[in-house]
Amino acid sequence: MKESKKVFGTQEWASTNANFINGCSNDCKYCYAKSMAIRYKRKTPDNWMIEEINIKKFMKNYKKKDGPIMFHTTHDITPENVEPSMAFLGNLLESGNDVLVVTKPHLDVVEKICDTFAPYKDKILFRFTIGSCDTDTLKFWEPNAPSFEERLQSLKLAYEKGFKTSVSSEPLLDTNVVQLADILLPYVTDAMWIGKPNQLLSHMKRNGVTDSLSIEKAKELLASLSDKWILELYEVYKDNPKIKWKESIKKVVNIEVPTVKGLDI
Ligand code: SF4
Repeated sequence: MKESKKVFGTQEWASTNANFINGCSNDCKYCYAKSMAIRYKRKTPDNWMIEEINIKKFMKNYKKKDGPIMFHTTHDITPENVEPSMAFLGNLLESGNDVLVVTKPHLDVVEKICDTFAPYKDKILFRFTIGSCDTDTLKFWEPNAPSFEERLQSLKLAYEKGFKTSVSSEPLLDTNVVQLADILLPYVTDAMWIGKPNQLLSHMKRNGVTDSLSIEKAKELLASLSDKWILELYEVYKDNPKIKWKESIKKVVNIEVPTVKGLDI
């Protein structure tokens, strides 16, 4: 018999995920997927940025699932892979699925998705990862991902075209959350999720990010996201229905972490 397990990570958003690329050109220093790919010898720190399509997964026929399918959890839609990503997304939608599209958004990619899949507007929920409103900070942690301005433009575009929109501020990359929320929330129809970086130093180590500046910045970031700071932030937003907390925050503020039976995490 399967036991109840606490829901965390991407399982807080969707019980099914869909990926078809090994590697990600964004090359985020904290990347969990990169860390796992290196651990299980599918990739090395140096070749993670090379995006390789897994044909079997690409061709897989995803049947209609009960809940939303999260596309994707271990790579991203980048200008280089936008064509196969659009085809893959189209297959998920044509099978009748609701799809949670999680990405560090490129404006031209989001425009293409909105134009191509306008008839599926009610089946798509965008979740744009934006952990800081400072482009220098984003570029430090997520070297090849879009600037803050481009992510904001993407959010506005999806919102104005009538799509459901949400934000993942996980991992938070600084403490300017109030400023970030003030800018983003007017364009969010669903929710803004807030979470700390998980296992930051260990993922960085496995990802080959061992330079002294990155380690120092990681330690500073973790120190700034203290329990005291989180409790104060929680007080500001605890009654805001559009702000949702990831497990890393729930633990600090003593919100019960949901469980689910028989979940393969
Ligand atoms: S965008 Fe996501 S999958 Fe790609 S490197 Fe960054 S964290 Fe990893």
